[in-house]
Amino acid sequence: MSEQNIMRIIDLRGQQLTRAEMLEAMPRAEMGTNEASELVRPILDNVKAHGAQALRDYAEKFDHVRPENLRVPVEVMQAAVEELDPEVREAIEESVRRARAVAASQVPEDFHTDLAAGARVSQRWIPVQRVGLYVPGGKAVYPSSVIMNAVPAQAAGVESLAIATPPSATDPDGMPNKTILATCAILGVDEVYAVGGAQAIAMFAYGAKGTEPQDGVVLCEPVDKITGPGNIFVATAKSMVSGQVGIDAVAGPTEIAIIADDTANPGWVAADLIGQAEHDELAGSVLITDSPTLAEAVQAELLKRVPRTKHAERVETSLSGRQSGIILTDNLQQSIDAANAYAAEHLEVQTADPDAVIAKIRNAGAIFRGGYAPVPLGDYMSGSNHVLPTSGTARFASGLGVHTFMKPVEVIEYEREGLQELAARVNAFAVSEDLPAHGESVLSRFVDDPYDKATL
Ligand code: NAD
Repeated sequence: MSEQNIMRIIDLRGQQLTRAEMLEAMPRAEMGTNEASELVRPILDNVKAHGAQALRDYAEKFDHVRPENLRVPVEVMQAAVEELDPEVREAIEESVRRARAVAASQVPEDFHTDLAAGARVSQRWIPVQRVGLYVPGGKAVYPSSVIMNAVPAQAAGVESLAIATPPSATDPDGMPNKTILATCAILGVDEVYAVGGAQAIAMFAYGAKGTEPQDGVVLCEPVDKITGPGNIFVATAKSMVSGQVGIDAVAGPTEIAIIADDTANPGWVAADLIGQAEHDELAGSVLITDSPTLAEAVQAELLKRVPRTKHAERVETSLSGRQSGIILTDNLQQSIDAANAYAAEHLEVQTADPDAVIAKIRNAGAIFRGGYAPVPLGDYMSGSNHVLPTSGTARFASGLGVHTFMKPVEVIEYEREGLQELAARVNAFAVSEDLPAHGESVLSRFVDDPYDKATL
C-alpha cells in the first residue's frame, strides 16, 4: 500500500492469538487521568464549602464569564424555544418522538416468584428520585445529549431532574447555548444551571448553598445519580464522587469499529470512519476486514475525502493516531473475534449477511446493522441511545437506557407456613456460620424460648 495512507494496518492474518494477545493487539488511546484528579479535587472541595460563590468563581476562571443567575430563568428558556430555527426544532422533535417510543418499551416489568405455600419473592423497579444530567458545552454543544439523557430518565419516572451545562462567554449574561436551553424546554425540564465542568458535578453531588440575586433560596439540592458525557475534568469528577452518588459510566474518547467484507461500499465505510474521527483527535476509528481489496479501497477513499471535510486536521490526527487502524483478518470469524476483543462503543456491520455476524457479537455498546444504519443516525434520531460504553467497557457495561434510572428491589413475602417450613434449615445455616442469633430470630416465631436449646 502507498506510504501516504492515513490509517495504519494491524495485520492479524495467519496468527493464532491468545485472548491476552488479541486484547493487546487492539488499537487503544492512552488514558491519563492522574493529573486531572489533582486539578479536580480542590474544585470539588471548594464547591462543597462555598457553594454558589465557588461556582461563579470557576465560571469566571474556566468559562470566562460570571453569570449572575446560575439557575437559568424560565423566561430565558422559553425565549430560546421561540428563537429556534424551525428546521432544527423539527429535528429535535423527531428525535424526541423516536427516543420516547423506544424508552416506553424499555420500562421493565415487576414480577413475582411463588416458591411454596406462603413463600413469594417479588421484584419492584423503583425510579431513582433525583438525577443530575450533565450536558457538555465546551468545544462543541450537544443538544442531542439532552435528549439521550432526559428521555429515558423521564420514561423511568424520575421525579426530579436537573441539567447543568457550561455558561457561554458569548452571551452577555453568561447563559448557556440556546439550542441546549430550547431542547430542555421542549422536554419539559425547567431546572437548568449555567454551570460546567467538575464544578457542576460537585454541585450535583453535594448540593450548593448560596443566594441567587432575586430569590435568596438554596441554589441546588443534591442528587442521587449523575449521568451524561463530558471532558476529562467532568469524567474525573464523576469517578471521584461515585459512591457518594451513583454515576452512569466514566466515558473515554468516542470510537467506532466497522466489520466489513468485500461486499461493503468503500466510500460509505470511509465516510463513517471520518464521521467518528470528527469528534475528537483522540477518537478511535477502526475497520476490521478480511478483504485486503476493501482495505485498499477505503484507504484510497480516505485520501480523497479527508481533505474535503471541514475539520480535516482533527480527522487526520484521529485516523492516523495509535487508537485507530485497519485490522486485516483471515476470515469473517476472525473479524468477529477481533470485534469482540475491541468491544466498540459503536459497531457497524457491513457484510453480505449482517444478521449472521450480529448473532456472534458479544461485546459492543450498540450495533448498527447494514449499510443504511450509519452511526450518525444513532447519534441523533434512530430512537436508540447514544450514551454508550467506551474504551472496551462494552465487555461488561451497556448504554444508557430506562434501566439506568431505575433500581430493582426485591420484596420478601413469607407467611407463617412458608417460614415454618424453612425454620430448622435457616437455623442450621446460621449455627454453621456461628451466627446463632440469626437462627433464634426465626425460631422466636415458633417456640417460646429459642435460646433454650433443650426445648427446641
Ligand atoms: P465539557 O462541557 O465537558 O467541558 C467544559 C468545561 O470544562 C468548562 O465549563 C470548564 O468548566 C471545564 N474546564 C475547561 N478547562 C478546564 C481546566 N483547565 N481545568 C478545569 N476545568 C476546565 O465540554 P467539552 O470540553 O467540549 O467536552 C465534551 C466531551 O464530551 C468531548 O470529549 C465529547 O467527545 C464528549 N461527548 C460524548 C458523548 C457521548 O455520548 N459519549 C456525547 C457528547 C459529547
